[in-house]
Amino acid sequence: MRMRYFDYAATTPVMPDVIKEMIPYLNIEYGNPSSMYSIGRKNRKAVEESRAKVAKFINAKTNEIYFTSCGSESDNLAIKGIMMANKEKGRHLITTKIEHPAVLNSCKWLESNGFNVTYLNVDSNGKVNLAELENSIRSDTVLISVMYANNEVGTIEPIESIGEIARAHGVIFHTDAVQAVGSIQIDVEKLKVDALSLSGHKIYAPKGIGALYVREGVKFSSIQHGGHQENNKRAGTENVAGIVALGKAIDLVIKDFDKYNTNIKQLRDFYISEIESRFDDAKLNGDRFDRIAGNANISFKGVDAEQLLLNLDSYGICASAGSACTSGLATPSHVLLAMGLKEEYIQGALRVSFGLGNTIEDVKFLVDKIGESLKKCRRF
Ligand SMILES: *Cc1c(COP(=O)(O)O)cnc(C)c1O
Repeated sequence: MRMRYFDYAATTPVMPDVIKEMIPYLNIEYGNPSSMYSIGRKNRKAVEESRAKVAKFINAKTNEIYFTSCGSESDNLAIKGIMMANKEKGRHLITTKIEHPAVLNSCKWLESNGFNVTYLNVDSNGKVNLAELENSIRSDTVLISVMYANNEVGTIEPIESIGEIARAHGVIFHTDAVQAVGSIQIDVEKLKVDALSLSGHKIYAPKGIGALYVREGVKFSSIQHGGHQENNKRAGTENVAGIVALGKAIDLVIKDFDKYNTNIKQLRDFYISEIESRFDDAKLNGDRFDRIAGNANISFKGVDAEQLLLNLDSYGICASAGSACTSGLATPSHVLLAMGLKEEYIQGALRVSFGLGNTIEDVKFLVDKIGESLKKCRRF
């Protein structure tokens, strides 16, 4: 049976050109970038070229980019690292109730170590309220961390306005842009963002590579200690092949940004309109307009999404209930709860996320199979 993949928000396949670019760094140019001889120096050069690409991509300076192992590590390094390094100013940070667990659990860890966290509410579309955010700022507030786009419902937060508020109050501003990269063009200067997380495997690079941008002059501590790599901020021999792959994936995103997003958005909008016209008690979750191109999160009232997923799997369809990080657990989505969804809608939320491998025929197949699966699910 042919597999049809609609879970690009969970991870993406590595593009052939990316694989081609990274392989030499696994088997031929395998030197350690810290070594002085030529294959070492070649690796150093490759790492720095990739760093320059990441920097240019978000309008940052090369020395403001730190490579990590994943988006989760970037979030940990930003949040813990900034809070630990700025204790003389205070111990308070502001985030939202709908962040990725990498942010939320970093905040929980800080709370258990004497820091204070304010968790902002969101409205029924998943957006933060700017007045509530500004009112939460205290004299001891060090950091605001608000995600650029939500991984479950796709809602885009008003990052530029938050950046202005943070800057006006002298508070550092971090955003988890893992879902936004590739879907939204990012300019850290325009956004007044001081720290930004991104991850390779959400943009067709392999798993195990991420990056963190931190604005020059913003103090942050290392949370992984050892050698002097990454300007003393992240010890560990560099994942050179992964770093090269991330640079190449970014090249491809830049080259085909409009084409990708136009296609993906068309598929997504077709899917949403088909579902809404065919199923009466389907409800779109997240902001209808301010959402990233690939995301469609729709609740089917009274249906158990896990059961729906199993049915879809029997047709070779890969999708997600809530987010991949929490599915498998019986706990309801913290994002949908924060948006105030009723129980019968939370359980029935199906996240479909589109990417480069999808076609309109795939989407028609998906909609048909959702129809068949719903009939089966509702019979029980
Ligand atoms: C996937 C994701 C992460 C985690 O990235 P990993 O590279 O898988 O650790 C963090 N935040 C958001 C919004 C994500 O979608």
